[in-house]
Amino acid sequence: MTIRIGIGYDIHRLKKGKGVRLGGVLIPCDQELIGHSDADVLIHAVCDALLGAIGAGDTGTYFPDTDEKFRGKESSWFLKEVAKKVQKKGFKISQIDSVVIAERPKLSEYRSRIQKRLASLLRISIGQVSVKAKTNEGLDSIGNKKAIAAWAVVLLVEKVKTK
Ligand code: MG
Repeated sequence: MTIRIGIGYDIHRLKKGKGVRLGGVLIPCDQELIGHSDADVLIHAVCDALLGAIGAGDTGTYFPDTDEKFRGKESSWFLKEVAKKVQKKGFKISQIDSVVIAERPKLSEYRSRIQKRLASLLRISIGQVSVKAKTNEGLDSIGNKKAIAAWAVVLLVEKVKTK
């Protein structure tokens, strides 16, 4: 059985606003993430991990922030497009693990909603998606509430070919 792993990372700056979108879930708070798309760092990290696992570049390769058609785009759309590429390469997602690093908002009460949303976008079960939340203990840009970052690791397995 062929397996592939991929790692992804992303960070976006914060500004005053009405909420941050993480893993496709809008979380109310007094800030929002700055980006060309909806700046969903968690989905961007998962996209990069998936693309890395199939050796297909990174999110910016397909959805560049210089392209007006992606302005304000919901990142859940990027994730679905990336999932199609994984399918086409003959792989399926076995497991996703991720970490969101944010001083605020507090993510623990949104964790299961985020897992559910990611699982539904990727058509996998909730048990295959892990989302963990960390603060940066008040240190650096994340600790100073100027940014939110995310890491993701994915494991893909080759789909069984039907003759
Ligand atoms: Mg990004």
